Amino acid sequence: MSDQNCIFCRIAAGEIPSATLFEDEKFRVILDVGPAAKGHTLILPKKHYANIMEMPPELVGEAFRLAKKAAEKQAEVLGCDGVNVLQNNGEAAGQTVFHFHIHVIPRFKGDKVSVGWKPGTLSDADKEELIQSLSL
Ligand code: 5GP
Ligand code: ZN
Repeated sequence: MSDQNCIFCRIAAGEIPSATLFEDEKFRVILDVGPAAKGHTLILPKKHYANIMEMPPELVGEAFRLAKKAAEKQAEVLGCDGVNVLQNNGEAAGQTVFHFHIHVIPRFKGDKVSVGWKPGTLSDADKEELIQSLSL
């Protein structure tokens, strides 16, 4: 996907206005237009990468460093009880904008924000197979 077709490329470049919390040569940090909670923040690289698998590892590290800063700021200023730092890769994983981004979502005890999953079980057979196949 080219810059002109990608809304986050255009936002990150400043072609489309956004509520910007931080900007440098590599990133723009903005408020999500459809927040899960007040203060929901997005970390966007200025260069287009569809997902975490496509992105250079160093840049992923820098993005998560910014996510940490945003989380700390939310805790300090909003007084939230917790923060979700998460990002989706691929439609099956809930990604809707196919330009890498990290969500930083302030959380309060008892809030109705939903980012969870129903825990399954790890069978012994799966465990053995996956230790073999997924070891890094
Ligand atoms: P995803 O589902 O891809 O992980 O998250 C996409 C996020 O981008 C959603 O939370 C959505 O509200 C947000 N979003 C989509 N379009 C815009 C936009 O034009 N501006 C801003 N600030 N956020 C957007
Ligand atoms: Zn893009």
